[in-house]
Amino acid sequence: MRAIVIHPPNPGVSLRELSDINLSNIGDDEVAVRTLYTGICGTDRELANGLMRHSVPPPGKDFMVLGHEVIGEVIDVGEKVTGFKRGDKVVALVRRGCGNCLSCRLGRPDLCETGEMKIAGIKAQDGFMADLFVDKESYLVRVPDNVVSEDAVLIQPMGDVVKAIRTFLSIVEARFPWGCEDSTYECRSAAIIGSGSTGLLFSILLKSMGFNVVVLNRRAPTRLEERIVGEIGVDFRLISEDVGQIDLLVDTSGSTVSISRVISKVKPKGGVILFGFGIGDETRVSSQLITDIVYKNIVIVGSAAHAKIHLREAVSYYARLKIEYPSVFKGMVTNIATPDSAVQYVSKKQEGEIKVVVRWR
Ligand SMILES: [Zn+2]
Ligand SMILES: [Zn+2]
Repeated sequence: MRAIVIHPPNPGVSLRELSDINLSNIGDDEVAVRTLYTGICGTDRELANGLMRHSVPPPGKDFMVLGHEVIGEVIDVGEKVTGFKRGDKVVALVRRGCGNCLSCRLGRPDLCETGEMKIAGIKAQDGFMADLFVDKESYLVRVPDNVVSEDAVLIQPMGDVVKAIRTFLSIVEARFPWGCEDSTYECRSAAIIGSGSTGLLFSILLKSMGFNVVVLNRRAPTRLEERIVGEIGVDFRLISEDVGQIDLLVDTSGSTVSISRVISKVKPKGGVILFGFGIGDETRVSSQLITDIVYKNIVIVGSAAHAKIHLREAVSYYARLKIEYPSVFKGMVTNIATPDSAVQYVSKKQEGEIKVVVRWR
């Protein structure tokens, strides 16, 4: 079978022919899946270019199959598998617990305390950019057949976004209600820094929960971005413009310069979700900013990865939002690759790219 392989922590990515999976050998609790689509994200690019120094191949191997955003079709199930049957469409969980810490033992490898968890396609576990893969039933979530298309690879990153929003709301609402008089969030405003696929996923989810959303970037929107935010019904503004007072700031850029520009706009009792990894621009945190955060009772939440419950919720959101906003997810898929051309897409980001999908069949 074909697979896109990398050699972490060293650079290098190639399409390789691996020996086929012997389907008569799959375990009782395992499911064999034929890959339909895989998404390419910035993490894949960092891995391929040798920029993720903490990554390692699976034990005993000198390469790792890349890819963590996947949609596949079940082609065989082990004897004890009850939740899946041949033909089911599935998305796979990426984090696999370390088995030692309390979080992992309680089904929350996204909150692993030891850092020894495995991450499919990212650290010590093969990913999904291959014709076939076999996984335990417990690591798969079913996606309704009739909603699956190339853009369903967005379900995996949407799991991260769902978790970030759920975590933030559960923390902030444990202190004081955040809902409006009609119980929705329609009186709340959110500003999102970054208009990449993650920024757009935050926009559509927060908008669907009732938030008034504005997307911020250092540059003007492309025609495609303009069309997408228009359909979602959110504004796009330059970060240098005045955004007014906001209840929630979400950063997907990792830019300290951008964050420090907007964070002072967060209202009393408001909050900040930090989602983007730092990109290396340094800025000074002013003493006044610290005083503001304290005085205004601002909640700041960092969030990465997700658990199975969030992936399930992401599937529901995806199915619903695809009906509500018919061309948003489709519009976010800017490039379709073949396994052959995927290597080039993994190596280098394309002009105007939002999401690249590799079609395996
Ligand atoms: Zn990713
Ligand atoms: Zn753990």
